[in-house]
Amino acid sequence: MNAPRRFIDLHMHSSASDGAYAPAKLMNMAADRGLAAVALTDHDSVDGLAESARAAAERGLEFVPGIELAARHGRHEVHLLGLFIDPAQSTVLEALAGVRERRHVRNRAIIARLGSLGVRIDYDELARRMPHASIGRPHIADELVRLGTVHDRQQAFARFLGAGAAAYVPRELSSSGEVIALIHAAGGVAVVAHPGRLEHGSSLELETLIRALADRGLDGLEVIHSDHSPAQHELLGAIARRAGLALSGGSDFHRLPVRETRGAGFGGVKAPYEWLAGLAARRRGPPGAHSA
Ligand code: AMP
Ligand code: MN
Ligand code: MN
Ligand code: MN
Repeated sequence: MNAPRRFIDLHMHSSASDGAYAPAKLMNMAADRGLAAVALTDHDSVDGLAESARAAAERGLEFVPGIELAARHGRHEVHLLGLFIDPAQSTVLEALAGVRERRHVRNRAIIARLGSLGVRIDYDELARRMPHASIGRPHIADELVRLGTVHDRQQAFARFLGAGAAAYVPRELSSSGEVIALIHAAGGVAVVAHPGRLEHGSSLELETLIRALADRGLDGLEVIHSDHSPAQHELLGAIARRAGLALSGGSDFHRLPVRETRGAGFGGVKAPYEWLAGLAARRRGPPGAHSA
């Protein structure tokens, strides 16, 4: 008889960044769905990792400490997941402090532009209300909704915050090579998140882009993601195998409801448990960051 298939979700957000649920709540939700292993990958933050590791252990859920960092790669903004990172590494903590400082400078610039458009936001007050979050445009969008300036987040991005909109300020990002090196310094494995979102004219162009990242030390590719179609799963799986990259899969879960709630993972994502070993095999540096 075949053993039941087991699934993983290596891309999830908690209230430590822009997710709706506290880390422990999120781990309980993942365990209730019958997942075998999960990673918490908050944007620019490791603040939720200790709580989720504890909650996951209580439920017998295998836990991978992670993070999601944005990087500049030519004209592209690439999102990189750092899986198996050691959150206590001083290099990481210093880099994250730098990322958050740059975000504060950018957020103040956005709020200054909003002010010149007649929309007043008190940034210090906003920051006080979310002391643990890595504050970005989604939080400013929510504030615009709260103030009644716009109806919803979508409208906030369309009118004010989206690329090219009235109060848009681009982020200053480290290069892809720098972010991959940082993830490695933290004992982690670097995976391109949602590669389907990378701007590309053809599948060959996408493969060339991914190979350039592999040349910079990339370890894996998020083949399965909520945004990817079955055809993209096929294509990205083939690209990963040709480029010698490990395969990963995750929902990028932020909050309920998700579009598809059947299946194993959030968003119907069904990444096989066996992929976790391929990612773990890419680890270098001191062991111990991977708690069961
Ligand atoms: P930031 O990191 O501050 O530049 O914000 C990026 C985040 O904003 C993304 O991860 C999305 O969650 C959100 N976002 C970006 N563009 C839009 C949009 N057009 N509508 C809604 N949310 C968006
Ligand atoms: Mn997010
Ligand atoms: Mn992302
Ligand atoms: Mn994400």
